[in-house]
Amino acid sequence: MPGDKIGTPGRMAKKKEDFAQEKEILLEHIQKAGLRRTGQRDLILEIFLRTEEHLSSEDLYWLVQKEDPSVGHTTVYRTLKLLTEAGLAREVRFGDNKTYYEHHYNHQHHDHMICTECGRVIEFFSADIEDLQDQMADKFGFRPTHHSLRMWGICDECQKKETEQPSAPSGAQPKVRVRSGVEH
Ligand SMILES: [Zn+2]
Ligand SMILES: [Zn+2]
Ligand SMILES: [Zn+2]
Repeated sequence: MPGDKIGTPGRMAKKKEDFAQEKEILLEHIQKAGLRRTGQRDLILEIFLRTEEHLSSEDLYWLVQKEDPSVGHTTVYRTLKLLTEAGLAREVRFGDNKTYYEHHYNHQHHDHMICTECGRVIEFFSADIEDLQDQMADKFGFRPTHHSLRMWGICDECQKKETEQPSAPSGAQPKVRVRSGVEH
């Protein structure tokens, strides 16, 4: 269900789509790493920035394929690594053994709730929770460098479905299927 996310911090930072700053940052990083600027890398960056979702490298590969079928999976994967090193992307994990990437540059810190039924990912930010975390760290003389707070559970939509059809008493382990909302 795309478009049903509430208070997505990433969306608030959305601006006109030229991504000049981001391209500059990538170029700087590419040069430092002794690599060449390529049209493919720029295209991958652009598609990544245009998509306000949590993308696996596979997801991004399919999006890139639509615009340039000559771009290989490895190129997409390596470019995502470059974007992460350059501080443009951030790796996130939702417990399904896959690595997802989200925008990092110019995006507010946020945490995630993950629905174990449908894979929906809700982004949230709470100043109170952030403060409490800092207080806890202080208490233990701990200097935090970063954190990731993740809650797993059942989203409101899936709870509605549960009450509509109270069948299927599955004692099975909850499956975590993180859906990125990208149609392949
Ligand atoms: Zn946080
Ligand atoms: Zn759900
Ligand atoms: Zn996120």
